[in-house]
Amino acid sequence: ADRDRLASSTGPGRTADGHPVKLLLNIGSAADVPAGSPGEGVGLFRSEFLFLDRRTAPSHEEQTRAYEDVLRAFPDAAVVVRTLDAGTDKPLPFLGLPEEHNPALGVRGLRVARRSPEVLDAQLDALAEAARASGASPWVMAPMVTTAGEAADFARRARVRGITHVGAMVEVPAAALHADRLLAELDFLSIGTNDLSQYTFAADRQHGELADLLDPWQPALLQLIERCAEAGRAAGKPVGVCGEAAADPLLATVLVGLGVTSLSMSARSVPAVRDALARHSLGQCREHARLALTAADPGAARAAVREAAAA
Ligand code: PEP
Ligand code: MG
Repeated sequence: ADRDRLASSTGPGRTADGHPVKLLLNIGSAADVPAGSPGEGVGLFRSEFLFLDRRTAPSHEEQTRAYEDVLRAFPDAAVVVRTLDAGTDKPLPFLGLPEEHNPALGVRGLRVARRSPEVLDAQLDALAEAARASGASPWVMAPMVTTAGEAADFARRARVRGITHVGAMVEVPAAALHADRLLAELDFLSIGTNDLSQYTFAADRQHGELADLLDPWQPALLQLIERCAEAGRAAGKPVGVCGEAAADPLLATVLVGLGVTSLSMSARSVPAVRDALARHSLGQCREHARLALTAADPGAARAAVREAAAA
């Protein structure tokens, strides 16, 4: 048994009965990829670092080089690049966006392309070129997608440039409710639980006093995740989680039971999540999901799943 445990702390993610779950990395640059990387690819490459603290946009060459570095670090695996997520907690001076009364509900994420589509197009041009130069086929997704119409517009911009895997983050409840319509336009979804919690519970994600509302074990949040996973299963397309929820080993079993196909997290979280999945069958994960969904609140959900996992 000890040898099995050791074997489970490297290699691809899977449940005790062999159901595969991709374990991917959240990174901010190629420098975040550890040597002998534990993941099976990159589930969230936050591209903001290229744009931070700048008065002018990064050049085409600079962007291309940054994407190429990451693509080359994972020659045989998927790398999901997220297009620029500006606004609120990520203000970017070069965009010259006006101050907003309510920035979390304002022009942020993909919405910036309404005003400055050239910023998004330049990013997609650089990514397409990095793909050609490295021979990789990158996946691209947009943050803060809210409607199927936005998803369709984003997909068109990416596909005319030859990018074949186009997706969206699900961070807004409307997007989760219409996950099936988004998937009619897209190849995959990735659920950002940090923002999806903020917008579902109307609670600022930085607000310490409201931490109980932002708990990723909230049954209402899990219900939205289940809806996305069901839409993915019906469409035969991947639906992953890339928010903080994916890094909680016990919650990871719940997410797999809800039907998500990948979990993306910082590199240091991968071994514990891999071990948790390796200790539970898909049937047990589904039972954990049922217990969490039907619990009264996050504390009860956590306690019920912890008890089932210990049994
Ligand atoms: C999220 O919102 O869950 C997410 C992964 O994106 P970020 O934390 O960069 O907003
Ligand atoms: Mg987010």
